[in-house]
Amino acid sequence: MHQTHKAIGILGGTFDPLHLGHLRMALELYDSLDLAKVHIIPTYKPMYRKQPVATPKQRLAMVQCAVADEPALIADDREIRRKGTTYTIDTLIEMRAEMPEIPFCLLMGIDAFLGFPSWHRWKEILEYTHIVVAHRPHYHLPQAGTISELINERIQKETSFIHENIGGGILLRPITALEISATDIRKQIAMGKNPRYLLPDSVYHYIKQNGTYRVY
Ligand code: ATP
Repeated sequence: MHQTHKAIGILGGTFDPLHLGHLRMALELYDSLDLAKVHIIPTYKPMYRKQPVATPKQRLAMVQCAVADEPALIADDREIRRKGTTYTIDTLIEMRAEMPEIPFCLLMGIDAFLGFPSWHRWKEILEYTHIVVAHRPHYHLPQAGTISELINERIQKETSFIHENIGGGILLRPITALEISATDIRKQIAMGKNPRYLLPDSVYHYIKQNGTYRVY
């Protein structure tokens, strides 16, 4: 199906807390893929991983303060408003109903993509969106198995594909390697170390003000 609308990016995650690795990925893919916007969507209750330390409201507030002065990025609270266990397929169905003709690109790091075949109704996800996999250091794509077959079937080299079709393609894109992780930031804060320059100052101020990771 050929489209004339620019694609929008969707970056989901726990964002516990949001850091510069997430923000650079969102902004670099926004630029290099010529996306209309990137929606950053904090998960309410992730299905496939340990539950977040910060509350949904706190994680949303950290995303909101990080993107407040960046028009390319939108803090999207739909999963937090929806509550319950978060499934990406439900988010995509909801967004597709709101924006029937807009192509979507689900942005994710390789670590997230490696687990994709275990996501709820994962095969249907590609009917609603493209997937853009951002390269991250230390992660390699497998040469055999489901992920490898999926890539062989769906890989697209041309960026134009994501704007001309509402979903179905997979793109692999390099981004600046920033080996920052939320887990490491939480550990640093808990040990009384200073995590500045790994995350936006506004997010760090929020954490300090709210004692989110036990900083008082
Ligand atoms: P944690 O350390 O708690 O696992 P995280 O820092 O990996 O958290 P998530 O909220 O789980 O953050 O990640 C959301 C998305 O951002 C995933 O697609 C993940 O691959 C990607 N991502 C996380 N950290 C980086 C980074 N440093 N560079 C690029 N992408 C990242």
